[in-house]
Amino acid sequence: MKFFFLLPLSLAVLLLCSCQSKEEKVVAPETEGNRGTETSLVDELPQSEKEQDAETAPEIEIFQESGLGITYIIHSAKGTLMIDNGFYNEELEEYLKANGGPDVLLITHGHYDHIGGIDNLKLTFPDTEIYINEKDQPLLADTELNYSSSMSEPVTISSEVQSLDEGTYQLVGYQVEVIPFGGHTAGSNFYYLPEENLLFTGDAILPESLGPVRATGSAEQMQESAHKLLERSFPDDMRVFCGHNGNTTFENLLKNNSELMENE
Ligand SMILES: [Zn+2]
Repeated sequence: MKFFFLLPLSLAVLLLCSCQSKEEKVVAPETEGNRGTETSLVDELPQSEKEQDAETAPEIEIFQESGLGITYIIHSAKGTLMIDNGFYNEELEEYLKANGGPDVLLITHGHYDHIGGIDNLKLTFPDTEIYINEKDQPLLADTELNYSSSMSEPVTISSEVQSLDEGTYQLVGYQVEVIPFGGHTAGSNFYYLPEENLLFTGDAILPESLGPVRATGSAEQMQESAHKLLERSFPDDMRVFCGHNGNTTFENLLKNNSELMENE
């Protein structure tokens, strides 16, 4: 299985210290419209502005440091939404400053390579709202659970991170459905943006495999989550962005991910 956590931690630390960051830009495909069920509202935009913005496909910026989880930034006239933040560097800061900073940061799960940049981000952008599943809150302050205890600088997060559990929310101008997908960790969250036709899976589902089971997660949770997800339907052309190993479409995920399909 191609996954970072299979590497020895010493190599992980080496990668942390020596790697170059990489940035890519992706333009999201046209959307198929609203498929979610709204259960709560946060900071909703005026209707006329929402209608206008729905015409504009967002840009998706991809920032990556070797060995660390991928940071995704969805930027449009609606606002700037960030998925995961395992690191913080000058290149990322410059992009965020040029685009008004992230309004919201959604964390897929509490491993160090997805949370390590949070405190530095908050120093520069104190107004950014940060969310994680309640079950992964303990990982933010526990270096054993977030797998950073053997590193030269173990990761603990002191910034306020709010809980965001199952449901559909209006975050800045984006409709976001939170789909809990326990297994990799107990509190892994998927974030589904139906209007943009995008799904962010963190480490629980990778393009061609399920993620590994780590502390607080379990194989039973993973099977149950996978089964529940496969009972739903998503557009074939929905882009699926993973925490490692890039992205795919929902159609290709069903075709290529035999570990996921075993739970159908
Ligand atoms: Zn992970």
